[in-house]
Amino acid sequence: MPELTYKNKNAYDTMDAAEIENAQSYAADYMKFLDAAKTEREAVREAIRLAEARGFVPLAGQPRAGERVYKSLGGKALLLAVIGRQPLTNGLNIAGAHVDSPRLDLKQLPLYEDGEMAFFKTHYYGGIKKYQWVTLPLALHGIVVKADGSAVRVTIGENADEPVFFVSDLLPHLGRDQNKKTLGEAFTGEQLNILIGTAPAAKKPEAVSGDAAKSAGGEKDADRFKKAVLELLHAKYGITEEDFLSAELEAVPAGRAREAGLDRSLILAYGHDDRSCAYAALRAMLELEVPEKTAVCILADKEEVGSDGVTGMQSAAFEGFIAELAGGSTQLPAIFERSFCISADVCNAFDPNFPEVSEKNNSARLNHGIGVMKFTGSGGKSGSSDASAETVARLRRLFSENGVAWQMTELGKVDQGGGGTIAKYMANRNITTIDAGVPVISMHAPWEAAAKLDCYMTYKGMAALYGHRE
Ligand code: MN
Ligand code: MN
Repeated sequence: MPELTYKNKNAYDTMDAAEIENAQSYAADYMKFLDAAKTEREAVREAIRLAEARGFVPLAGQPRAGERVYKSLGGKALLLAVIGRQPLTNGLNIAGAHVDSPRLDLKQLPLYEDGEMAFFKTHYYGGIKKYQWVTLPLALHGIVVKADGSAVRVTIGENADEPVFFVSDLLPHLGRDQNKKTLGEAFTGEQLNILIGTAPAAKKPEAVSGDAAKSAGGEKDADRFKKAVLELLHAKYGITEEDFLSAELEAVPAGRAREAGLDRSLILAYGHDDRSCAYAALRAMLELEVPEKTAVCILADKEEVGSDGVTGMQSAAFEGFIAELAGGSTQLPAIFERSFCISADVCNAFDPNFPEVSEKNNSARLNHGIGVMKFTGSGGKSGSSDASAETVARLRRLFSENGVAWQMTELGKVDQGGGGTIAKYMANRNITTIDAGVPVISMHAPWEAAAKLDCYMTYKGMAALYGHRE
């Protein structure tokens, strides 16, 4: 008689001590990746550095079996592959994660002064709860591309000797009106202005006295607080205000990934969504020997804003990459039809502080392993590719045969809300696709929490996928 009831187990009860130790050392490496990769560009740069150390080379012409190749999409997304023994028309094993995370982007003309203070205006990126982004230390990461095409990399606020930045909030003493507003109304996007400086530029010396000269002197001293910031930026980076027009500067929570909990079982960090899966997919690929089927790792950009654009998963860049692996595009339909993709993205972990949004039987638990989502979407699974029963069964087989702790989950109660991943864009290519990833607490908050065991099990799941022969 088989076990008639199904009960998902806590991985602490199923993993032996040696494997828990493996998870600890994996988590330490993942935390280093998090610190080196706080933006999509940094994630791509760090991934290339790690990949080149493991023998990956830029894709240039059709590679042969056993070759390890990558292609950077403008430094903001990355595609990697290890060519398998079998022809590509037998299908690919694909892990698709994303490396962009919610944040505050600087506007194209961000700098202004008000009340003898200088600020940067921002336009938030991705789904944020705006109230979470005030009064915490922010760091600036990004790139300024000058008109001549030369680029200046900017990182300020991560080292202890560097300044940080912040968005202010109202003191509670004067918060009577603010407290009456809803969470969504209390902070507007146009209020998320980053304080950047309060010391003015030096006054211009006055040549002559008299009323006329005084008013001319006043003209000269306009924008002194803004000018002081421009002088500092020019001294350090050689940039002018106009250069902001062609910059991508991102304000992210300042500081490193930290172990959390007295038992250190969790990691509190910015950007678990989706670097916990991106690192898992990357790490498994770096360690992969020659597989049967060609293995592909996607580190996509733009997932948080709909996967549009040349670096998002709707881009034809993916077809271009696979066509180059195949030595032409005519076989793409056949390759895609036989391929298998895990859309490696985080899911929400059950939070006892907010039980009302989850249905307990179908919610991921921390420490129960990689969370599998048959569907995402909202309003009756709308906007989801909804993996078939056959696809779920295939994943059950794959994970159980490879000792991967896993659990089934869904994105909250019916009609509670919803969301999506890159899964549907892969599935729309006629690639069999299913969502699976690390369960996260406080997803999209400046500091998100994930369990070390779940991060490790996601990595094991990706390794199993790349070695898949079915
Ligand atoms: Mn995600
Ligand atoms: Mn997200």
